[in-house]
Amino acid sequence: MSISFPIYSPEEQLLDPVLAAYNTEVWIKRDDMIHPLISGNKWRKLKYPLTELGETDHQHLVTFGGAWSNHILACAAAGAQFGFRTTAFLRGEPVDNPVLSLCRLFGMELRFVDRVRYRDKEALFLEHYSPEEAFFLNEGGYSTQGARGCAELISELQRTYDHIVVAAGTGTTTAGIQQGILKAGWSTQLHAIAVLKGAGFIRDEIAELGVDPEPINLHLDYHFSGYAKVQPELIKFIQGFVSRTGIMLEPTYTGKMVYAAYDLIENTSIFADSRVLLVHTGGLTGVLGHLHHFSTQSGHQGK
Ligand SMILES: *Cc1c(COP(=O)(O)O)cnc(C)c1O
Repeated sequence: MSISFPIYSPEEQLLDPVLAAYNTEVWIKRDDMIHPLISGNKWRKLKYPLTELGETDHQHLVTFGGAWSNHILACAAAGAQFGFRTTAFLRGEPVDNPVLSLCRLFGMELRFVDRVRYRDKEALFLEHYSPEEAFFLNEGGYSTQGARGCAELISELQRTYDHIVVAAGTGTTTAGIQQGILKAGWSTQLHAIAVLKGAGFIRDEIAELGVDPEPINLHLDYHFSGYAKVQPELIKFIQGFVSRTGIMLEPTYTGKMVYAAYDLIENTSIFADSRVLLVHTGGLTGVLGHLHHFSTQSGHQGK
């Protein structure tokens, strides 16, 4: 079984009139176009773990996440496409939402566990499965093999950049991109936009993956009060950006990342006279939990 598909992720210049007044050349790496559901950084993070699974006799992937997890959905879709069974342990009380319905559509088994038991994922895994029959993949695809797949983004680039901006949850994608930058011998500055509140721990998580976090610019103030939380200013920004560019964003990751990049362009000199790459990490189904923010009651902002 070959667990792979060709990567389509063009690098496009962002010609947003709002940025015309600033001397910053902005590009966007369209990882959202890699696959509709095995999207963005999730495919990059899965590539090597799934290759490893394909080389063993395992026919079963077991992983972990929250109820809106793009990682879980990517695993469900990959399992259906490449022919292995998938199970996800979900944190907290049983709930239902469109992302979980999509996971079931792709044949994934969903198992809800309370927050205490969820904490020790290896123990939870071993309680139900043996390592001989099932393959363990950490929450969000957090792994050195995941970072390895993300590093490949750099070798696809058609030009060099002074700065690269990416959203950070577990920090796996950030760690991988930093590895790619170092391997290419570039002096590019990497900016990670933390989407969780109080996410200083990301530095340790990046270090755990064997990457020195020190040169990475970790921006901790763009979480909009926490993971998957939004504020009217963020919603208004997303509405404006999507309607001007035709590039879709969701509020949990890419909306916060692009908001941060614009804020740094408009209100600091960090990106002045430079070429910047925004990494569109995909995950657009995340918008399904936020659609009500764009209802008529919220007011259409227009162009
Ligand atoms: C999961 C996800 C991230 C976070 O990636 P990490 O490697 O966990 O930091 C960023 N953007 C999107 C769209 C995601 O789905």
